[in-house]
Amino acid sequence: MTAVEAGATHLRENPFEIARNQLRRVAEAFDIDPNLVAVLGACKKAVEVSVPVSMDDGHTEVFKGYRVTHNVARGPSKGGIRYHPDVTLDEVKSLAMWMTWKCALMGIPFGGAKGGVVCDPKRLSRSELERLTRRYTSEIINEIGPEKDIPAPDVGTDGSVMAWIFDTYSMNKGHSVLGVVTGKPLTIGGSLGREEATARGALYCIRDAVAKQDRSLAGMRVAVQGFGNVGSFLAKFMHEEGAIVVAISDSTVALYNPKGIDVPAAFAHKRENRTLAGLRDAEQITNEELLLLDVDVLAPCALEQVITDRNADRVRASIICEGANGPVTPSADAILEDKGVLILPDVLANAGGVVVSYFEWVQGLQEYFWKEVEVNAKLNDIVSRAFDETWETAHKRDMPMRVAAYGLAVQRVAEATVTRGIYP
Ligand code: GLU
Repeated sequence: MTAVEAGATHLRENPFEIARNQLRRVAEAFDIDPNLVAVLGACKKAVEVSVPVSMDDGHTEVFKGYRVTHNVARGPSKGGIRYHPDVTLDEVKSLAMWMTWKCALMGIPFGGAKGGVVCDPKRLSRSELERLTRRYTSEIINEIGPEKDIPAPDVGTDGSVMAWIFDTYSMNKGHSVLGVVTGKPLTIGGSLGREEATARGALYCIRDAVAKQDRSLAGMRVAVQGFGNVGSFLAKFMHEEGAIVVAISDSTVALYNPKGIDVPAAFAHKRENRTLAGLRDAEQITNEELLLLDVDVLAPCALEQVITDRNADRVRASIICEGANGPVTPSADAILEDKGVLILPDVLANAGGVVVSYFEWVQGLQEYFWKEVEVNAKLNDIVSRAFDETWETAHKRDMPMRVAAYGLAVQRVAEATVTRGIYP
């Protein structure tokens, strides 16, 4: 048996400390009762499980898995499951807390949760991935459920993984339970528009921000870091809107073309080869150089803490759209604030995914499915309303968009907690 240890991590700062500090800053700005801040600063429940998997070569490997519920004051907890070698409990806790704020800001009736397994999904065969997913699901089966805690995809997981979670849970219950997980494939009760939803929500936020500045997306220069679910669709949508996507990247390579990357070709290349490496008509740069390009919009859509106090002063973008969760650290926030960079914070910019997850959950419970145009129109309503509320609060109170967005969200969760009362 081999126990899998996490390798060198991409996290330089403790993300849960960051999340708790953000909460304290926001609570001060919005005058929230310290008793409530103490409640909201802690996670309701954190479960750690070991996940033994029979590997294809016959040996057994033991992976570590987590599922954390941060808060359920506004409804069952909601949030993705991440498969990545750097996953830590504190990372999952921070991501769970951010899910609580994200759902509250969007006004959807969920609390926040997150899960993770310490593994490198790129190095697992499909059948190893399936066995790992089914065993992890069995280990957390008492924690999840349609009225309790509803997982979804995140970094390193996709519709196939959700299908195995749905099937494992349903087999154990003895009937299909559509509402246990979202981000399912369309053939088994997924929602039209869910796959593209996170990027679509980000597009709506950028469009609304640009409109406030009396500019338009056409002709804007954009750099997108990450070419997974969020980055690839965001690059595609921005390209379709007439923006010039000058740089893209994935975990293997970063590519630059000042005249514009051929995004449809990149999309096809990634789907076929599972990497951007080898894409033609683009110069190879580093991921760090991509972040520092002279562009209108920079969209970090990969992992946390890529813009830090080490590089923030050299960022040249005028808008940063956080497609990933937590890509900008608080010390970088302060530097960018001074430079006048407009940051569209994660809980606003990447909330499209969980909004359409909510639609998928509703459709699953009702067994009645909507057309894609309905899904996208309702997504637009919710994201644009949240954008306007955040923009107005930021301008009225003269604060950054992040503080406004988190503040509105924390206020809503605090109100729900007060209304319900602390049990017993
Ligand atoms: N993992 C996504 C996020 O960070 C989606 C969560 C969901 O759909 O529940 O927002």
